[in-house]
Amino acid sequence: MGHISSNTFSSRVRVVLRVRPFLPSEIKAKEKSPIPCITLLDQENRIGQEVTIHIKDQWTSRNECYNLDSFFGQEHRVGQIFQREVSTVIPGIFQGFNATVFAYGATGSGKTYTMQGTEDEPGLIPLAMSTILSSCKNAQGSVEIAYYEIYMDRCYDLLEPKAKEIMTLDDKEGRLQMKGLSWAPVHSMDEFCDVFSTGVQRRKVAHTGLNDVSSRSHAVLAIKVTSGAVKGKLNLIDLAGNEDNRRTCNEGIRLQESAKINQSLFALSNVIYALNNNEPWIPYRDSKLTRILQDSLGGTSRALMIACLNPVSYQEAVHTVSLAARSR
Ligand code: ADP
Ligand code: MG
Repeated sequence: MGHISSNTFSSRVRVVLRVRPFLPSEIKAKEKSPIPCITLLDQENRIGQEVTIHIKDQWTSRNECYNLDSFFGQEHRVGQIFQREVSTVIPGIFQGFNATVFAYGATGSGKTYTMQGTEDEPGLIPLAMSTILSSCKNAQGSVEIAYYEIYMDRCYDLLEPKAKEIMTLDDKEGRLQMKGLSWAPVHSMDEFCDVFSTGVQRRKVAHTGLNDVSSRSHAVLAIKVTSGAVKGKLNLIDLAGNEDNRRTCNEGIRLQESAKINQSLFALSNVIYALNNNEPWIPYRDSKLTRILQDSLGGTSRALMIACLNPVSYQEAVHTVSLAARSR
């Protein structure tokens, strides 16, 4: 795979890696200052150039190398990911193109931190939103958002009370429509934060009786921009955790959930692979996730997958990075 500048217009899906810092609990557990199990092979990390990353097991001599589009180590802040990888797609949204950003990785790897962020360090969602809102002023555009969750191949509208289920159906052109999905107009960051945080809260409590569904569902924030007759859309997606079934001993509902998650993440990886390798047939239909995103993946759309990793687990790193790298 050749080099590609992040500014080059291409339907190629970029796959980048982010390793989060050690948590205090992870530092205490070690005697010396810890070294992350994932590092760059050669210390160069030039924008727009493929990188090779090295995953090494601290306890054994096992190690593996993979190629990816870019690497963000523990010292990188989310603002740098935004600048290099996401801000570049925003002008296209105002010209009518769609784009998608995925955070992918196991539970605890920093997906939600990267996408939502915290009050001290806003994530890609608020950064993108505020950039879009200020561009809107110049372009005389308007913004609407939808926020929904895909759980066990069903869609739930997080902007509706009790996260109402949304039916999907094919229209005459064979595109998937989400019937009755709510779109909330947004004029300011304050307004956005109100609407979004209500949705985030709803996501936490929607599935009563089931424990923490939020890490086992895909959350999609869709930002639609209308500027004159032109419409573009940016999807920002916090994917379900890609747990390794061989290691988590899931059973019952957890096993079914986990099978659905793996199936949809595998389908996503296959779609990205097919797009990046110019295959004539793109298998969008293999999962609800890829069906829903069909209009924002491939064609003239831009997409970015951020594979998130905790710096501690060799097994988990190999599990996450191998799927991310095979997508390219
Ligand atoms: P996930 O959504 O993948 O399950 P989280 O985003 O919830 O993971 O992150 C797991 C933990 O790591 C949280 O306590 C979070 O605050 C912390 N964390 C993740 N990324 C970072 C980061 N870049 N800097 C500091 N803390 C982080
Ligand atoms: Mg999360």
